[in-house]
Amino acid sequence: MHINSLSTEQIALQDAARKLAQGVFKDTAARWDAEGVYPDENHKRLADLGYLGMTIPEEYGGDGASLVDVYLVIEEIAKVDFNTALIVHDQNVSPRIIATCGSEELKQAFLPRFARGEIDCSIAWTEPQAGSDATAVTTSVRKTDGGYLLNGGKIFTTFGDRADYLLVYARFCESKGARGVGTVLVKRDSPGVTIHILEQKMGARGCNECEIHFDDVFVPADHLVTEGVAENSSGFVKPIAVYNATRTGMGVLALGVAEGAFDEARNYMKTRSQFGKTLSEMQGLQWMMSDMRVQIEAARALCYNALSMIDAGKPDPILCSIAKLQSTEMAQKVTHDAMQMFGGYGYFGSLPLERMVRDVRMLTITGGTTQIHKNAIAAAIFRD
Ligand SMILES: Cc1cc2nc3c(=O)[nH]c(=O)nc-3n(C[C@H](O)[C@H](O)[C@H](O)COP(=O)(O)OP(=O)(O)OC[C@H]3O[C@@H](n4cnc5c(N)ncnc54)[C@H](O)[C@@H]3O)c2cc1C
Repeated sequence: MHINSLSTEQIALQDAARKLAQGVFKDTAARWDAEGVYPDENHKRLADLGYLGMTIPEEYGGDGASLVDVYLVIEEIAKVDFNTALIVHDQNVSPRIIATCGSEELKQAFLPRFARGEIDCSIAWTEPQAGSDATAVTTSVRKTDGGYLLNGGKIFTTFGDRADYLLVYARFCESKGARGVGTVLVKRDSPGVTIHILEQKMGARGCNECEIHFDDVFVPADHLVTEGVAENSSGFVKPIAVYNATRTGMGVLALGVAEGAFDEARNYMKTRSQFGKTLSEMQGLQWMMSDMRVQIEAARALCYNALSMIDAGKPDPILCSIAKLQSTEMAQKVTHDAMQMFGGYGYFGSLPLERMVRDVRMLTITGGTTQIHKNAIAAAIFRD
């Protein structure tokens, strides 16, 4: 499957990522899921190869890669190993927020370390009472000598147990809604930070989601990313504008898993025979595969269009919502339909289909649920 407008360099990048994914990551993908362990060796390899923090500008030690570049890599990895694809995805999010919103001092202090893969960072935004209603955060930061004191709690923070830093959304003053909310970088092992891993997770078992509590945690003044002010919502809106690309990126993660499931189904159908012919010769199943292919191509076009508009400096949040929604929902159906091709064998964990179905499920929930994106799309439709 091809995107027409890719440059020679992008095709080379895509090929290299495909070789890495198919040649190295595919063989161990089942292990992270079965054992519930973080793919440390893949993380190290990704860091060594410069795949973490790819979008960091060159002056801070990164590649200055476009979002399309990064997601071409992520798509290839997600075809075979969702947990490892998630690492590349997540470790490109926080550096972009810092690069776009942070002070020069902050960028110089952190971005080169992200670019070298020395540190990583989780997004700690959702709270028990502030899920879809993301502006309802109550975690607070208050000025103190030399910095801030942070108090409150977060939930569902991916990689929260191992990331060196947490990018925390918090309220800087007495305010309601998005006004007064800003972001700070918090060292995970700071005194007053308590972390509890959430158990019994459905998929993406190579990483953990965490509940995190902040009890008078000192945050140095130079760890401020965006300041929350009572007068307006700039401290909240600026990082969210960057985060919109991340939502679309979740669409690409889903796309990759769907493509991986599709490939597995196609290969199997050519070998499995019933009633004296292969599954690939049965028209009912062929049409299912055609429908899957159509849905995959539609998602691909939507995602890369939204990402290339961001790269071109013309971000369209509604197109980002449309791409995220369509692709993540598409992947639920495609992975299930691909599993159907395997009959009873697909239902068991010895084949990757069962894992793919579980892994991709989170993507219609995190990054804004399907319903919340529908709300945003509907609001735009009926805006004057
Ligand atoms: C695997 C996983 C990883 C995550 N990683 C992170 C992370 O790294 N960092 C982070 O900060 N958060 C993370 N999250 C949290 C995620 O962003 C939230 O779960 C999500 O925003 C939904 O919030 P909630 O779970 O509180 O559900 P709720 O907001 O309580 O929603 C419950 C249901 O009601 C629907 N709903 C809510 N409001 C409306 C409305 N106005 N109209 C229509 N329907 C509505 C929702 O769509 C949903 O179906 C993660 C979640 C998961 C599952």
